Amino acid sequence: MQRQESFQATETGRLYLVPTPIGNLDDMTFRAIKVLKEVNLICAEDTRHTRQLLNHFEITTKAISFHEHNTEQRLPELVARLKQGENLAQCSDAGMPSISDPGKELVAACVKEGIPVVPLPGANAALTALIASGLSPQPFYFYGFLERKHQQQVTELTALRNRGETMIFYEAPHRLAKTLTTMAEVFGEERQAVLARELTKRYEEFERGSLAELVAWAKEGVRGEFVVMVAGNDHPQEDEQRPSGTPLEQIQSAVDGGQSPNAAIKQVAKRLGLNRQDLYKQYHQL
Ligand code: SAM
Repeated sequence: MQRQESFQATETGRLYLVPTPIGNLDDMTFRAIKVLKEVNLICAEDTRHTRQLLNHFEITTKAISFHEHNTEQRLPELVARLKQGENLAQCSDAGMPSISDPGKELVAACVKEGIPVVPLPGANAALTALIASGLSPQPFYFYGFLERKHQQQVTELTALRNRGETMIFYEAPHRLAKTLTTMAEVFGEERQAVLARELTKRYEEFERGSLAELVAWAKEGVRGEFVVMVAGNDHPQEDEQRPSGTPLEQIQSAVDGGQSPNAAIKQVAKRLGLNRQDLYKQYHQL
């Protein structure tokens, strides 16, 4: 067991996790500004982006880049600075660090070294969207980004199909219509969902309806940033009749029930709209 007392005297420095606005500069908190002014160094996902924010709030602290492509390389230096007593702040381009953004490796490294990790509350797209969605706010299940390839999405969504919680996804606008179509295939066209677009910005809007309605809407062309929220499954008992689990689990369960692998692969491919050859290769680990 390890205990962190965030504000007790410590020989090391502290890592502050600082959320930044998701579209409205007024959502920057007083504490976030104070911490960014006081730390020795800011680790920013994109220094050019963060510099604009820092300039706006007259923050002159030095910022260095810290993102998924240089995390491994930066970690030893950052941990060493923290151990020497420097205070660091980490922030991403928008919202909470570590939430579908860089940060988790640095947090894990600090926890391992006994360096206090101090989270600041603030802007986050998922929770901001959820509270206005009209869907049940709890329990909820935050998923973040799905895989991009259709088949991998089907696998991920199939595993979520019977969940009763409201599900929250992030998605890029150019993939939205396709992803909603796959959701409608796997969850059913009638499943209720909400799209939160351009949160906190001038053209913020919410689209609420069935997945079929939202697919039709998105196919007309969309722009901006989106959070996709899908209602949990209200009828898992009906769906229990239908096989659940990932495609490979469904094949295995049919095979365990006496079906031949080839017949099971064919049936699952058809039911989920997947490529039979791909499933065959995955099942036989070719
Ligand atoms: N760390 C961020 C957070 O705490 O929400 C999320 C960063 S993730 C790389 C970016 C995704 O978050 C976008 O693709 C979109 O799905 C969602 N997002 C960010 N800002 C948004 C906004 N203003 N309105 C709607 N969705 C937003």
